Amino acid sequence: MKGLLAFAALFAVALAKDTFEGHQVLRIVPKNDVQLSLIKELEKMIEFELDIWMGVTDAFSPVDIRVPSHTLHSFKSYLENFNINYSTMIENLQEMLDREQEEMDSAARVGQPRNTDSFDYARYHPINEIYSFQDMLVAENPNMVSKLVIGQSYEGRPLNVLKFSTGGTNRPAIWIDTGIHSREWVTQASGIWFAKKIVKDYGSDPALTAILDNMDIFLEIVTNPDGYYFTHTSNRMWRKTRKPNPGSSCIGVDPNRNWDAGFGGPGASSSPCSETYRGPRAHSEPEVKAIVDFVKSHGNIKAFISIHSYSQMLLYPYGYTTTPVKDQAELHQLAQKAISDLTSLYGTRYKYGSIINTIYQASGGTIDWTYNQGVKYSYTFELRDTGLYGFLLPANQIIPTAQETWLALMAIMDHTHKNPY
Ligand SMILES: [Zn+2]
Repeated sequence: MKGLLAFAALFAVALAKDTFEGHQVLRIVPKNDVQLSLIKELEKMIEFELDIWMGVTDAFSPVDIRVPSHTLHSFKSYLENFNINYSTMIENLQEMLDREQEEMDSAARVGQPRNTDSFDYARYHPINEIYSFQDMLVAENPNMVSKLVIGQSYEGRPLNVLKFSTGGTNRPAIWIDTGIHSREWVTQASGIWFAKKIVKDYGSDPALTAILDNMDIFLEIVTNPDGYYFTHTSNRMWRKTRKPNPGSSCIGVDPNRNWDAGFGGPGASSSPCSETYRGPRAHSEPEVKAIVDFVKSHGNIKAFISIHSYSQMLLYPYGYTTTPVKDQAELHQLAQKAISDLTSLYGTRYKYGSIINTIYQASGGTIDWTYNQGVKYSYTFELRDTGLYGFLLPANQIIPTAQETWLALMAIMDHTHKNPY
């Protein structure tokens, strides 16, 4: 009976979650401009039901695409027809998801941590565990850490922001967010690690101590909570928010195309079914609007760092226009320093530059908006890896990823502290 119940429980979970059995992630490297424009058109070919993991940048840069099992054959024929070469990055996505789930299940059997010292930073955690981590950190460090609720998600979850402060009123501040795209799990996991790192290093690391003696740090770990919940319960590959779109059966808006900076321009979609759907209007998503209101009302944010994965890049504005920002030279030099620090730890290689020159044109992006609001040090990270695992980065890479990223964050925060404006 017990076995039967366990089986029934497993079956129920399997029924509730989308399966990715037989889905493959293909890597295409366009050989010339003709292939490049053909590959760009793929986004609009809805009959293949493709999910672009890593979009088109330029000829000779790889494009990663998840292809469902039922369109795999016709899609491969299409590519072969145009003589486009591809390789298989992930043979069967569901097998990787099963492995990820097994690791999480075995971690769950250990039980819940009583404090942030016994918290398992080398695992992925569901949203309730991240919420309790935040509360434990606040309770353990009442003089430095507090929790602000800056709004509510569409489904009513709190938008929690950890505030690290050693005093003062409305000190110049640094903002860091992770997980605005919910499936980018290494980012939320790194955010948890950063939170603990800040508390541990204050008083022992002179650079961080100097920063926190003069500035506040705000950290939003679960920036898209409805999406994050959904990646754990229903569809691991969910990227967008979870707000329904009137007149469409497709759910959600891309919260990194929803900002009032070149909103509606090229590099975002007007179709609710697209993974880069910009939304009905700028700041239509409560998760975005909450940050907009916070940044405006605070009025003293000096650095804004929005963290994504994957592809190993450090980017600065703009994404919606080729016009360089007026601080381009300084932002570029600081990116170079941040990346050289990052690479010094484990040799992880990053590209850096403006969004439009380094990755692709994207309109309505977070840091274009913050830069236009006067936040000079506006950056976006794309963390590990470069596509071997993509969004399914194994949990044993969380801590090394967070450690190396921390060095780059410190470079940016230290420069911000030493160059007041
Ligand atoms: Zn992202």
